[in-house]
Amino acid sequence: MASPHAHASLAEQVEQLLSTGGPLPIVAAGDPVLRRETERYDGQLGPALLARFIEALRLTMHAAPGVGLAAPQVGVPLRIAVLEDPAPVPEEVRLARGRVPQPFRVLVNPSYEPVGPARAAFFEGCLSVPGWQAVVARAAEVRLTGADEHGRALDEVFTGWPARIVQHETDHLDGTLYLDRAEPRSLSSNQAMADRWAQPTPARAAAALGFDLPA
Ligand code: ZN
Repeated sequence: MASPHAHASLAEQVEQLLSTGGPLPIVAAGDPVLRRETERYDGQLGPALLARFIEALRLTMHAAPGVGLAAPQVGVPLRIAVLEDPAPVPEEVRLARGRVPQPFRVLVNPSYEPVGPARAAFFEGCLSVPGWQAVVARAAEVRLTGADEHGRALDEVFTGWPARIVQHETDHLDGTLYLDRAEPRSLSSNQAMADRWAQPTPARAAAALGFDLPA
């Protein structure tokens, strides 16, 4: 349980962060803030500062560009993440990966659990690990609980690519990076991704690089 003093410092830290305006600097792997447990959001910022912080996260995610961003990625150890995916992908990719458009949304104190045993494995990347992608097998369907930015309860089942995004972002709030769950032999530079592994599924990459995909 955080002391009132800790609450004040967190708000001060966010005020400081927002004072420059524009997209926020994104923290890269190696910074301990990405490896710590985050604090549950419990009004530490107050409604006005929370709204400004969420807007800054949205702006930063768009500028990156990315489809999700968690508070620790801008150095703030609070259990808050944003996501949005316009999913500008070809039809065959949309079908193979279940990458359907996802409107902007805010996850406050989210947690997830798998729904059923199905797993899906695809390349993914992280704004905190720039330049690289790797294959992660994740639950194909998850139940996400938590709240939105207005404190309204969230209890929703996600499938396809949105399920991948909510798992990736919620993991950030537990100090977990996608690399912790990735197939190490799948690690590929963005250049290799563009040159070789742009197919809708990682089947060819698995055969060529020597890693397993879920049955
Ligand atoms: Zn990430």
